[in-house]
Amino acid sequence: MLELIVATTALFLLGVLPALLLSGKDEAGQSDREKTITAIDALLPQTQCGDCGYPGCLPYAQAIADWDVSLNLCPPGGDATVRKLEKLLGKSYRHTPPPMLESAVALIDEETCIGCVKCIVACPVDAIAGSAKQLHAVIPEYCTGCKLCLPPCPVDCITMIPYEAPITF
Ligand code: SF4
Ligand code: SF4
Ligand code: SF4
Repeated sequence: MLELIVATTALFLLGVLPALLLSGKDEAGQSDREKTITAIDALLPQTQCGDCGYPGCLPYAQAIADWDVSLNLCPPGGDATVRKLEKLLGKSYRHTPPPMLESAVALIDEETCIGCVKCIVACPVDAIAGSAKQLHAVIPEYCTGCKLCLPPCPVDCITMIPYEAPITF
């Protein structure tokens, strides 16, 4: 029995452990690169919309980790996601607001809105104010124009309108 334990331990030390060290993986089997990608992906909205130019959130996370692409390519994530990515990756010099889609923001028709809250749940950047059975309204300065609030609205009372941020001096 003792021989079996010694043999098993030797096999582990000679086989598995060096393999882990050489691969740079931790005990959970994740390399530093994989851990970085997982951490980046966890900060992305997971809407899989593809507006960043990649086929989903995970491919964009992989591109950030592998090719150091810009951190501001995710419109649904908005400025808040850029800030979180900067904090994670220590790249404060990349802090610029993400591009808006079609320079448009959502507008809710007050006459038709039934206050069902579904748009608030869908909005990834908290750009819609309102509570159950009350009128909802979009805060244009927060809206990234991602249109994710449109499909869930049961009465189709949300439209996209052109928007230009007010000029401040
Ligand atoms: S734009 Fe943002 S939410 Fe959409 S797929 Fe890319 S990372 Fe995900
Ligand atoms: S388009 Fe709708 S879901 Fe997207 S940010 Fe604006 S209010 Fe939110
Ligand atoms: S989903 Fe449509 S009806 Fe429901 S609260 Fe939002 S705007 Fe109003």
